[in-house]
Amino acid sequence: MRAARTFASAASGPHALSKRLFGRGDRRTLGTVQFEGDAHARADVESTQSKVLDVPLVLIAGASPTGLAAAMSLSRADIPVRLIDKAPELSLWSRAIGIQARTLELFEQHRLVEPFLELAHRASVANLYSNGQRLARLNFDSLQTRYPYLLFLDQSVTERLMTERLASFGVRIERGVELMRFRQGSAGLEAALWYRNGAEESIRPSYMIGVDGAHSTVRHGLDIEFIGKTFEQIFLLADLHVDTEWPDDEFHIFTSGEGIGT
Ligand SMILES: Cc1cc2nc3c(=O)[nH]c(=O)nc-3n(C[C@H](O)[C@H](O)[C@H](O)COP(=O)(O)OP(=O)(O)OC[C@H]3O[C@@H](n4cnc5c(N)ncnc54)[C@H](O)[C@@H]3O)c2cc1C
Repeated sequence: MRAARTFASAASGPHALSKRLFGRGDRRTLGTVQFEGDAHARADVESTQSKVLDVPLVLIAGASPTGLAAAMSLSRADIPVRLIDKAPELSLWSRAIGIQARTLELFEQHRLVEPFLELAHRASVANLYSNGQRLARLNFDSLQTRYPYLLFLDQSVTERLMTERLASFGVRIERGVELMRFRQGSAGLEAALWYRNGAEESIRPSYMIGVDGAHSTVRHGLDIEFIGKTFEQIFLLADLHVDTEWPDDEFHIFTSGEGIGT
């Protein structure tokens, strides 16, 4: 099946917002894009492309927390976005589970804090042990915030809630769509997208935000060094139901010569 669609975008002047957010703007319609695809793929694209505003369209590569947050901020400002992720579906793994007060304050600005407060587990106290002896008990009560605690919630749920909030702006994640390469020349920014069904698409966003993780295509494309290192240690993460006599709103960090357990 073949479909054709006209993408339009607009921008205003040359920009270099950061190393990972860049682009160039010139107000214009960007032409017709041909792509092969099934109805589902087309529906996903159309859902984020249905309106043409007189402001720059931004391509966000990566729909994990950072990309979702960027998309929420831009959508709140009525800036059209295309949010793509090469993963065909939302990850089910818990991964990052601790949400701090400042993040909750930002979620509040996005009118998104309520479901987090409802679904997550609150911890007001952290206990630190060394070789079985408690060294410190840290109470978050005195924090100058409306959220003086650490909130525990699976990252998969965090991403789902952010995705739902984005949907309320009419933005849907285009899943199974990968940023393959891009270039930025005198004609502006051009990005090549690849669909899981083999279709390819070339678009000209005014900006692109590269939030595509540790092995970032954007970082490699810009030849930006990864500043960091690999810890040659074994980490074990398990989601368990455990019966203990400890208070329900405290968490515990155990250290010894053997390692750290939380
Ligand atoms: C087992 C585990 C436990 C963790 N525990 C914690 C924790 O306790 N606390 C904590 O703070 N962090 C933790 N993390 C790390 C946390 O998950 C990451 O910091 C977080 O996911 C980073 O979010 P991100 O949006 O920056 O990037 P990522 O989550 O890496 O997302 C990048 C996204 O980009 C997509 N993508 C990649 N390349 C392309 C491309 N070319 N085109 C389109 N899409 C692309 C990927 O599919 C992915 O969805 C843990 C991670 C793991 C794996």
